[in-house]
Amino acid sequence: MRVLWIQRLSCCGNTHSFLNYENWESLLKSVDFIYHPSLSLEAQDRVIERVLETGEDIDLLVLEGAVRCDDEEIKRLCQRALFVMAVGNCAVYGNIPALSDQNICGLSYRFKERGGLLGGDFLSKGGLPVINLSGCPAHPEWIATTMLMLAEGIRPELDQWGRPLAFYSSLTHWGCTRNEYFEWKVEAEELGSKKGCLFYHFGCRGPLSYSSCNQILWNGVNSKTRAGTPCFGCTEYDFPRIGLWETKQYAGIPAELPIGVSKRGYIMLSGVAKMFAPDRLKDEG
Ligand code: SF4
Ligand code: SF4
Repeated sequence: MRVLWIQRLSCCGNTHSFLNYENWESLLKSVDFIYHPSLSLEAQDRVIERVLETGEDIDLLVLEGAVRCDDEEIKRLCQRALFVMAVGNCAVYGNIPALSDQNICGLSYRFKERGGLLGGDFLSKGGLPVINLSGCPAHPEWIATTMLMLAEGIRPELDQWGRPLAFYSSLTHWGCTRNEYFEWKVEAEELGSKKGCLFYHFGCRGPLSYSSCNQILWNGVNSKTRAGTPCFGCTEYDFPRIGLWETKQYAGIPAELPIGVSKRGYIMLSGVAKMFAPDRLKDEG
C-alpha cells in the first residue's frame, strides 16, 4: 500500500508518536511510503508537485496538522487518494491552530462543526469518509493498525465522528486502574498520587472522552491516569480546554457529568457512595 503522509500546521507530535510504533518491520512489509516527513529525504513541496503532475497512485493519504480552509493542494490530493486519514486532533478538528484563525480547520470538521476543508459528505475514491484518528497525539498503535487494516482490504467501522470503532468505542475511563475510587468517590489528594480518582477535583475527562488509552497502553506500559495525571480529553472536538487540571463545579457538583449519568442520579449515588466508601480506600485516597 502506497502511503503519502503530509504535514500542514503541526507540531509534529503525531509523527513522533508514530515513530514509537513497536513493529516497524512488519508494518514496512505492507506499507510503502511515497513520502513521510521523517523518513524521506525529499522536500514535501516537491513531492506534492510531482505526485500531482504525474498522477502517481496514492492508496492512503495521511494528513497531520490543521489546514487552511481553502487549501486546494490538499483537496486535490484527497480527491486522488483511495483512502484519506486525518491523524491527530488538529487534522481532525482544526484544534489548536484553529483557535486563533477562522480560516483554519480539519479535513471534515472545524471543532464540532461538520464541513472543514473537504465538506461533511466527502467520500474518497475507495468509498470511505475521512478516517479520523483523533488524539493529541494519536496513539501509534491506532495509526499503524488502521494502515494495516486498509492494506489488508479491511474497511474500519467508524463512529459518528469518522473514528475507527476499534479504538474509539469505549471511554478512556474504561480500564482505568482507579475505577474503584471513582465508584466510591474517593478523590486523589494530589497530582501524581498512586491512589484515588482524578475526576472530582483534578479535571479528569476519562468518563467523557472516547479513547482506548487505558486498554492499549502507551509504550505498552502506561497511560495518563496510571501516571497520576488526569485525562485531558484530547480525542474530543473541544480539546484543549481552559483549566486542564481542575474540575469546574457548581454547588459541589461537576459542571460536566460522566456520559450517560443524569444530574439527579449523580447527586443520589455520589452522596451515598462517599458515605459508605470502604475504609481501606478512604485511608489510601
Ligand atoms: S482517574 Fe479518570 S479515568 Fe480513572 S477512574 Fe477516575 S475519572 Fe475515570
Ligand atoms: S488519556 Fe486522555 S488526554 Fe491522554 S492521550 Fe488518552 S484521551 Fe488523550
